[in-house]
Amino acid sequence: MKAGAVMPGQKDSARVVEVEVPQLAEDEILVKILEVGIDGTDIEINRGQYGQPPPSQDFLVLGHEAVGEIENPGNTGFRKGELVSPLVRRPDDCVNCRSGRSDMCIEGNYKECGIKGAHGFLREYIAEQPQFLIRVPTELRRVGVLTEPMSIATKGIDQAIEFHHRSANPVQVALVLGAGPLGLLATAFLRFQNFNTYTLDIVPKSSLKGQLVEAIGAIYLDGSNSPIAELPRQIGNLDIIVEATGNSTVAFQAMNVLGINGVLCLMGVSTGEKPLEVCADCLNMQMVLGNKMVFGTVSSSRSHFEKAVQLLGKIERKWPGWLSRLITRRLAISDFQSALKPVPDGIKTVIELV
Ligand code: BGC
Ligand code: ZN
Repeated sequence: MKAGAVMPGQKDSARVVEVEVPQLAEDEILVKILEVGIDGTDIEINRGQYGQPPPSQDFLVLGHEAVGEIENPGNTGFRKGELVSPLVRRPDDCVNCRSGRSDMCIEGNYKECGIKGAHGFLREYIAEQPQFLIRVPTELRRVGVLTEPMSIATKGIDQAIEFHHRSANPVQVALVLGAGPLGLLATAFLRFQNFNTYTLDIVPKSSLKGQLVEAIGAIYLDGSNSPIAELPRQIGNLDIIVEATGNSTVAFQAMNVLGINGVLCLMGVSTGEKPLEVCADCLNMQMVLGNKMVFGTVSSSRSHFEKAVQLLGKIERKWPGWLSRLITRRLAISDFQSALKPVPDGIKTVIELV
């Protein structure tokens, strides 16, 4: 069967390769993969900046955002034809992994399918144990591929809201930095909570990103004419900021504008080594005197995936068709290499395997 693979550490190594259809172990389910989403991590892996093949192999099958259909449920509670989305992490034996929270792994020996030490889902079939599969309702067939990025946004924002509960003043204003897939899904979640939500990117308001932000009642800010430093004056106390660009300079700018009792959630991974000069005293003083909090969040576990599936359903009902507009390119696996090259005004690229 066909798979989309890379040689981790090598630049532009993406190739379509032939791999074996997996043999089912006794406790496994055979899943036919329908769609796989491409994200910034995949692009970085193909740039040779990230990623690790499975032990004693030199290639890595990409793909960590997927929706598939049960082909053979084996002896599990699943039924043939049900839709599922696979979790990304595979646990090690640390205390968090053992309690189903590999997203909080403390040993670092977890694997991430399609990223670190385990093949991903960009292949026709995968064999998976039931605890790593989340059911997706049939109505979400065309957007279920967004489950994984939604689970990342869900985990981050749920924590930010919870942390904000330290203070009695409610969350009123939320700012999302970056209107890529993660930033847009975060925007939808925040709008769903009825927060006044502002989403910033550096493309014009008339762009698809700008339109998608405004279509759900959030306000789009074009960062090329509204500098981040000006935002508190324009929009008030920034209670929650979600950093979804992965640009470390933007992350520090966000710390500078965070409101009193504010919570900054960092969810973009930066892989470079860019230095930055900051006023350390100013930052430290503002953080302390303003009861501010900055935290990072990575990966997601079962409960986040389950909530993500529910949220996708709610978003689809509240703003019908909005989620599908995030998927700006649908390509065949033969176009795997071009899927890894971003296009202007593109948001999410999906590879269709059937
Ligand atoms: C994935 C996460 C993963 C992270 C770091 C992200 O693109 O969505 O599941 O933990 O990369 O590897
Ligand atoms: Zn662990």
